[in-house]
Amino acid sequence: MFYFKEIKSENQEIKLPIFKNNNIRVFIKREDLIHSIISGNKFRKLKYNVEKALNEKKDQIITFGGAFSNHILATAYIGKLTNLKTIGIIRGDELLNKKLNSTLQNCKNFGMKFLFISRTDYKKRNNAEYINTLRKKHTNSFIIPEGGTNYLGVKGCEEILEKDDDFFDVICCPVGSGGTVAGLINSKKKFQKILGFSALKSSNINNVITKFVNNNDWKIFDDNFFKGYSKIDNRLVNFINDINKQTGILLDPIYNSKMLYHIIKMISNDQWIYGKKILLINTGGLQSINEINFKLKKKGCEIINH
Ligand SMILES: *Cc1c(COP(=O)(O)O)cnc(C)c1O
Repeated sequence: MFYFKEIKSENQEIKLPIFKNNNIRVFIKREDLIHSIISGNKFRKLKYNVEKALNEKKDQIITFGGAFSNHILATAYIGKLTNLKTIGIIRGDELLNKKLNSTLQNCKNFGMKFLFISRTDYKKRNNAEYINTLRKKHTNSFIIPEGGTNYLGVKGCEEILEKDDDFFDVICCPVGSGGTVAGLINSKKKFQKILGFSALKSSNINNVITKFVNNNDWKIFDDNFFKGYSKIDNRLVNFINDINKQTGILLDPIYNSKMLYHIIKMISNDQWIYGKKILLINTGGLQSINEINFKLKKKGCEIINH
């Protein structure tokens, strides 16, 4: 499909003393550069879903997410590109009468309509009965699950790794709903291992990933350093600023920075047993950085963004 033809990203080496001293080489795949505000992996997960929606002559896409969701924004943007209408079912009915945050304002500018639902109702998002009711109410709609993680989303993420990436022993990727890491697992070479770094604490994500993958050569680390999803402290902010200063790469505070922090921690504690040639998948996710900084400034820290 022509909208996605150009998806291709470069690997860039990250040179830090800790890697050099341990004889480790680390590269980062700049999926974050695929688009200035849409996370690279979200484009990949939407590719075959949108293709199917268009082939089936649907006129609308419905999907789910939180108020800062990169997936919701990517869906709104693709809707605008393809002339498909979009509905975002957003977690939190308290948002109904509030001013839209910048993520949702961008979605609206791309033409998305919203349905704000309570956190209790949001829990039903994968429930067959609930989905059927949605289908009946919104005829001729294509429904995509939260995070774009379904069979077709995983298929799109099987295109992230390329031939040159055979160089690496281990591929690391942040994990939310699990689709991206599942695609990597399915497309890796036999000699490679996939490590996923969950942005959530004690998630049930292993079971989700297992449903989509064709081998067992992978491992997921839960977020046990930063107290869970979207929790950001001073230590993390300093780490992000420090990496940016040393490498020129700005990592997002929800997913990619926590992954690299975790890896460096394991290397410094002599717990790294996964190979000397590491590829990190940088999934992007900087679109909400100003909003996050607004909150951080109240706590006395700030991600330096330039
Ligand atoms: C959604 C997202 C992820 C997680 O991807 P999943 O396929 O949901 O596991 C990682 N990084 C960023 C920036 C994201 O937006």
